[in-house]
Amino acid sequence: MTDAIAQTQPQERVRLILWSSALVAVGALSVCLAGLTTPWDRFWVPTMGALYALVAALLWRKPAWLTPLVFGVLLLTSVYFIGGLYVASNDHNATGLYALACAAQFMTMFYVAAFVALGRVANLLCWLHYAGLIAMYLYRYGPVMHGAEDMVGHTWGVLLAAQPACIVALHYISTLKDRLRATERASHESKERFLAMLSHEIRSPLQSILGSIDLLALKASTPPEHRAIERIRNAASQLDTHLRDVTEYTRLENPAWRLQPQAVDLALLVQDVCDTFQPQAQSHHIKLTCELPPSDSLSLQHIWTDGARVRQILGNLIGNALKYTPSGSIIVRASRVASAGPVQLEVIDTGIGIPAEQHERVFEPYVRLEDARITGAEGSGLGLAVVKRLADRMGAAVHLQSQPGQGSHFTVILPQQG
Ligand code: ADP
Repeated sequence: MTDAIAQTQPQERVRLILWSSALVAVGALSVCLAGLTTPWDRFWVPTMGALYALVAALLWRKPAWLTPLVFGVLLLTSVYFIGGLYVASNDHNATGLYALACAAQFMTMFYVAAFVALGRVANLLCWLHYAGLIAMYLYRYGPVMHGAEDMVGHTWGVLLAAQPACIVALHYISTLKDRLRATERASHESKERFLAMLSHEIRSPLQSILGSIDLLALKASTPPEHRAIERIRNAASQLDTHLRDVTEYTRLENPAWRLQPQAVDLALLVQDVCDTFQPQAQSHHIKLTCELPPSDSLSLQHIWTDGARVRQILGNLIGNALKYTPSGSIIVRASRVASAGPVQLEVIDTGIGIPAEQHERVFEPYVRLEDARITGAEGSGLGLAVVKRLADRMGAAVHLQSQPGQGSHFTVILPQQG
């Protein structure tokens, strides 16, 4: 159910509308090439085709403009339909019927597009459009249903009679979808509350246990005692890590969860994360290097992103690199190809590596490979799943290149606008 809901995330919707607009533009172009019957169509079809192409291009660059762009273009489409039907009603022959049949097909698409792209505003727009059709019918034929002697007028009347069913059905589906979303959100919130409570109830005593273990370690005198205390410490800290990962992953499943983007000095952030891991790297005798653009370079200084989440992604990747690199080195690199281009974050290690057939699987939740277990590294199998989910939310791509025994190279590409 979560995935079904996630599909209605803004990005998915923008992509859907972008491609549909591009297809309508191509469709309009092919109709123009095939030949148009009325002066009205000769003006409007190429104009609308160009407008839909413009909408697709603008959505590609400015996804945030989705609602006003679609509202504007559908309003114009409505004008085109209403005018087109008026023109068709003057052709009391096959051409008029043909125009009506075409309009009937596309009118359904108009309603569907409105409900997919505009949510609640769609209902208003669709009824406005319908009112426009009724007004034009009344202007043209008066308040009577035309008989079969005027096939065009009669078909128009039938067309009008069928439209409300379509709008009401779509409105009903969209209301159901909203309700489903609200239920999903409520269930996520209660799951989150429960996990937060559970996590707090377990983690607080766990912290005291960890503290007491340190005190106990001071009292231990024989090697077997030290080994036993070390085992308790490992088990307790593993439990703590599992709890933290599960809570974090559950939080990310909530569709209502939002990023908090702001201008971030990414060079500073990456250096800071590297510094945090330096003591751990030194204790494992691993060389951890942070490669950043020269300090006078402005390329990473004002990056519009959610800094806390980038920190979390990098932290999980570096943490894994340290866990799965018994000896050798780790490089953390941040770079930007062009001043307005995407930002690239890389974590490269010389560790145990990942077989090619597991490259996709490791990003799934609760997946741990056999090698990870053999090396005795602690983990819940959620670190990379969290990285992938966060990256998806940020519109970022994650790539993995790795070979067993030769190390792994993770690349995160953060998109930047303008
Ligand atoms: P875990 O908690 O097990 O580390 P992750 O989701 O972070 O869970 O990683 C999933 C699996 O991917 C790990 O169990 C390990 O087998 C593999 N993996 C992740 N990062 C690396 C790496 N840098 N080198 C080798 N294997 C890795």
